[in-house]
Amino acid sequence: MLRESVAHKLGVSVSDLQQVRVVRRSLDSRKRDVKYHVQLEVSLQGESPLPSAWQPSVYQDCRNKPPLVIVGAGPAGLFAALRALEVGLRPIIVDRGKPVEQRKYDISRITRAKEVNPDSNWCFGEGGAGTYSDGKLFTRSTKRGDIKEVLRKFVENGADPDIMLDAHAHIGTDRLSRIIANMRHTIETYGGEYHFDTRVADLILKQGRVCGVRCADGNSYEGVAVILATGHSARDIYQLFFEKGWQLEPKPFALGVRVEHTQHLINSIQYHSQNYSKFLPPAAYSLTTQVNGHGVFSFCMCPGGIIVPAATGESQQVVNGMSNSHRNSPFANSGIAVTVAPEDVPDYARYGVFSLLKFQQDVERKVFEAAGGCIDAPSQRLTDFCQNRTSTRLNKSNYMGQCVSAPLHEVLPDFVVRCLQQGFRDFDRKMHGFYTQEASLLAVESRTSSPVRIPRDASLQHPQLPGLYPCGEGAGYAGGIVSSALDGINSVTMIAQNS
Ligand SMILES: Cc1cc2nc3c(=O)[nH]c(=O)nc-3n(C[C@H](O)[C@H](O)[C@H](O)COP(=O)(O)OP(=O)(O)OC[C@H]3O[C@@H](n4cnc5c(N)ncnc54)[C@H](O)[C@@H]3O)c2cc1C
Repeated sequence: MLRESVAHKLGVSVSDLQQVRVVRRSLDSRKRDVKYHVQLEVSLQGESPLPSAWQPSVYQDCRNKPPLVIVGAGPAGLFAALRALEVGLRPIIVDRGKPVEQRKYDISRITRAKEVNPDSNWCFGEGGAGTYSDGKLFTRSTKRGDIKEVLRKFVENGADPDIMLDAHAHIGTDRLSRIIANMRHTIETYGGEYHFDTRVADLILKQGRVCGVRCADGNSYEGVAVILATGHSARDIYQLFFEKGWQLEPKPFALGVRVEHTQHLINSIQYHSQNYSKFLPPAAYSLTTQVNGHGVFSFCMCPGGIIVPAATGESQQVVNGMSNSHRNSPFANSGIAVTVAPEDVPDYARYGVFSLLKFQQDVERKVFEAAGGCIDAPSQRLTDFCQNRTSTRLNKSNYMGQCVSAPLHEVLPDFVVRCLQQGFRDFDRKMHGFYTQEASLLAVESRTSSPVRIPRDASLQHPQLPGLYPCGEGAGYAGGIVSSALDGINSVTMIAQNS
């Protein structure tokens, strides 16, 4: 069909076409007639063939090269390691969690035995928070670097090449574990090494410069520099900085709930019909509004998704969303979050740099208690929440655990409740049918980004700790898989330039 349409547009016959290659594909459902926009590269017979779509990564054998210590095997750490192999540094990756093959057992224990292993869970372990996710691969920020480089490295390690074309590409949990394991194979083949079950507890400084890490098991690792990519849930790392007097800053973040509708309803709204084509993918949405000076926005929307318990320690209740590659669950879920800045929580000012972190912890504990002291998810119908009523009956949910009815309008902080209540009404004006008693809210969506920043200067090093490169979501400089991966790549490029 594409070849015929290209030939028609160029005024040539189909046999005159040598190659027709899709370079970009996006679905546009803003109007009733839903369309795919496709961008193509074409060569005609007799012309030189199209250059190859991308140059493969070229890695050096780094067995005898200078070591680079990377703390955290999430997207930031793993893409930093791959970049290290390109610039001739030997990555030594240290992660508190387990390899993906073993991590999955700890994850299933969270729902089966209601037990959270503080070192191996939905956020910690090989691949970081990105492994058991929806694997959405887009970022709003295009200034950080070449997104295609990240996508290409995913493809080289087993992802579907179509992710290079789709405007809103995603991989899916079922495929990500294998890709993360393939990345390990690539990194080890070229001389990199992994240390799992190894929690970093301190930094090693020599002559005022960070040159390594000391771990809880007594081992230490040294290198030309240390990349600290421990993610937004490594509260012990923030505590270490605080105790040592190393600079930290509070960082605005966002907190709210996860909303769940049936995928059929979201499809009907987004595709403007109850009888949308079965060939269309499960529809997504992206919503934002402003209420009382706060941003209220949808976050990490998972079409055909599952809601997961994403706590990383005791007495916490946290929800997040993921999906498989086919996005074939009958539910659509999304975080709906309200921006929170230090001035919104004046009672927490006494905690200084940890004001927002302490607020986040307190909300997670309160929600945990509302669930009866376990990882069951406190839940309420959307309409009941907006009308300040406890739900006497809950909707069906695709939460990986049990839902318990709870008055979220009383459990969550007042300003968050008011913003969410107005926000849901605003969203219904943008997506008519969104506000319905068939939708459920699950709490709490609190790990949207880090509430603390580990600062860095123009050389990407901590201002007081030369040799230390705070990186990725935990440092407060990225959010999401792609931007964290790019931050990892950029940090290593900078280390190569600085040394
Ligand atoms: C369920 C879920 C679904 C998500 N879905 C998406 C999505 O579809 N698209 C998207 O773009 N983003 C998604 N995200 C967010 C995304 O996963 C993160 O933004 C991203 O993983 C951050 O990358 P990072 O490398 O900076 O940190 P992380 O991925 O958090 O990795 C940090 C790593 O550091 C390790 N670590 C922590 N402390 C220590 C220590 N003291 N010593 C040693 N190791 C340590 C951890 O074990 C972990 O492996 C999702 C997150 C979750 C939880």
